[in-house]
Amino acid sequence: MTQRIGLYPGTFDPITLGHIDIIERAVKMVDALVIGVAVNRDKGPLFPLDERVRMVGDEMAVISKKSGVPIRVTPFETLLMKFAEEQKANFIIRGLRAVSDFEYEFQMVGMNQKLNDDIETVFLMADVRYQFIASRLVKEVARLGGDIDAFVPAAVGAALKAKFAKG
Ligand code: ADP
Repeated sequence: MTQRIGLYPGTFDPITLGHIDIIERAVKMVDALVIGVAVNRDKGPLFPLDERVRMVGDEMAVISKKSGVPIRVTPFETLLMKFAEEQKANFIIRGLRAVSDFEYEFQMVGMNQKLNDDIETVFLMADVRYQFIASRLVKEVARLGGDIDAFVPAAVGAALKAKFAKG
């Protein structure tokens, strides 16, 4: 039987409880999950790639153990579809928030279908408690000294606080 391998790509700058909720849903559908952490220089990430990969990885042990699904966290800089092929992923998982994500995701799927029509994109929605969370806003709140504990895992919250305490 072929293994169902899902790829969840993102910038994860940093990983939030919204991402984690999506991952917890994704592991119910796959035999193995690859989390692709994009270099994404254009977005001018706050955390360097290795730190983002490490922060995602640290949160995965519990989910992997609980679900019994192996989770691999891998950085990537290539075209998403090329990366998906390399990882032997059967489908790509993306999270969808309200209407804001729709137009971008709609275009991405259209383009990706042209590049490889065998790899489907699957959209998941986070629990209502987490749907409004965005890495960009979490960084903004942290930068302004606000409380971010309800949006990110404890270790990420500590990393954000340390980052902005310095600056
Ligand atoms: P990207 O730069 O690819 O958008 P992100 O790290 O911002 O990377 O997001 C990765 C994926 O997770 C995207 O599909 C995004 O829509 C989804 N996502 C992020 N936050 C949430 C959330 N709170 N609820 C649902 N999906 C989310």
